Amino acid sequence: MIIGAGMSGICMGATLERQGIASYTILEKGNDVGGTWRENTYPGLSCDVASRAYCYSFAPNAGWTSTFPPGPEVHGYFKGVAQKAGVYDHVRFGAEVVEGRWEAGHWVLELKNGDRIEADVVVSACGVLHHPVLPDIEGLETFAGPKFHSARWDHSVKVDGVRLGVVGTGSTGVQITKALGGVAAKLSLFQRSPQWVYPVGNIRFSRLNRFLHRRFPALSRLSYRGWQWAYEETFVKATMKPGWQRRMMSGMCRLHVRSVKDPELRRKLTPDTQPMCRRLIMGKGFYKAVQRDDVEVITEGIDRVVPEGVITADGRVHDLDVLVLATGFDAQAYLRPIELVGPSGNRLSEAWGHKPHAYRTVGLPGFPNFFMLMGPHSPVGNVSLVAIAETQADYIAGWVRMLDSGQTSAASPRADVTARYNEEMVAALPQTVWTTGCKSWYLDADGLPSLWPWTPARHREMLAEPQLEEFEPVA
Ligand code: NAP
Repeated sequence: MIIGAGMSGICMGATLERQGIASYTILEKGNDVGGTWRENTYPGLSCDVASRAYCYSFAPNAGWTSTFPPGPEVHGYFKGVAQKAGVYDHVRFGAEVVEGRWEAGHWVLELKNGDRIEADVVVSACGVLHHPVLPDIEGLETFAGPKFHSARWDHSVKVDGVRLGVVGTGSTGVQITKALGGVAAKLSLFQRSPQWVYPVGNIRFSRLNRFLHRRFPALSRLSYRGWQWAYEETFVKATMKPGWQRRMMSGMCRLHVRSVKDPELRRKLTPDTQPMCRRLIMGKGFYKAVQRDDVEVITEGIDRVVPEGVITADGRVHDLDVLVLATGFDAQAYLRPIELVGPSGNRLSEAWGHKPHAYRTVGLPGFPNFFMLMGPHSPVGNVSLVAIAETQADYIAGWVRMLDSGQTSAASPRADVTARYNEEMVAALPQTVWTTGCKSWYLDADGLPSLWPWTPARHREMLAEPQLEEFEPVA
């Protein structure tokens, strides 16, 4: 049983299909596959990882229209893969899992509608950023006009010609501002903290380019590997340790913000933290948008929301017709609020009471035959999550094969091995740029980045095959 039919759930299904394992079901609470690409439909949504690398290695997409294609195109790609790989046939839609309980040697999953489903292996593919966070702002509920979170965009609401307020300047707020600056009569962008923006252009792929990638699949494979190599040699190394990569990325961001002509606005938009300390915003066009006469960046803190708009700490009233909350997600939830109850009555809510942890990003002590895609400390910083899902799905499929062939029986990772692995990881974190002093969704309850501090190659090596000696059978 796979929980979730987003990018990683489809990957798990397609991986099982490719290995001839058909005895799986994907439980999906929504009404279509695609996860984050199904749920996020805000204007300006686009992929911020290069498309030639943002695909499964086993399903390259010759048809990408640009380096950073729009959201619907990305959603279409994942739907297409699910269709072609035969994954759709295994998805049960409208199936929201509320609890999983280990009973008599297997998992029993309980759905919201009361159905109970048995499974030998459970894989959580619930994604990282799927629980929208609404800001705790006084009076928010009193706003007279339409208001919604960016991941719940209300397309029945007119945005052209209105006075639009956008709260938040993460990747989402920036993309919305780029798209709606000049569309709204006035766009007020409420910025609590400035963010660095890496200036990378969105190149349209010519018909010839697409034809050549379609005609010569080796070219698609080469493009995929080339982009992956480039990401791992620059972005990843820049985040992992000081060096020329970090200086280069940092220099590019600092140069980019200089394109803001007004010194006062440039000062407002310049963070005092290191570039990449939080998820780097990718793309050009944001600084151009905020220099428009009809776009205003407001850096005074929000004091409260009133029926007619937002009042900032300086007492100014910002009159608004529509309010968009681009205020991010709870990245520490993972599969929760789903509760898991292990063989000894042990609960996920207790195991993760202080903060989530994992064995090699995929397993959890005390929970046999339970695996995660994009679990705690997965290498999710500014790289393609698709490649990571693939590594994890291959590893999990290896377990399924071993269970199937009787090479092993129900088992969970040993607590001592998991603790040692987590200690090593925490010891490696101070080298990373994420510990240089900013707050973001990367940080856990202890203020530590819940990211992978090593190379993606090490992640691939760690998950190359199951280490049976690091597991223990169910008592
Ligand atoms: P985010 O990066 O967490 O940004 C949330 C924003 O809301 C921040 O600017 C934050 O301010 C602000 N905020 C939160 N609470 C607030 C409050 N009470 N008052 C004022 N401001 C408040 O969320 P996101 O922009 O949705 O992006 C999340 C992640 O999604 C990204 O890092 C990226 O990984 C992914 N993403 C990807 C794409 C893509 O193209 N592939 C597109 C969008 C998002 P502070 O900075 O002060 O906390």
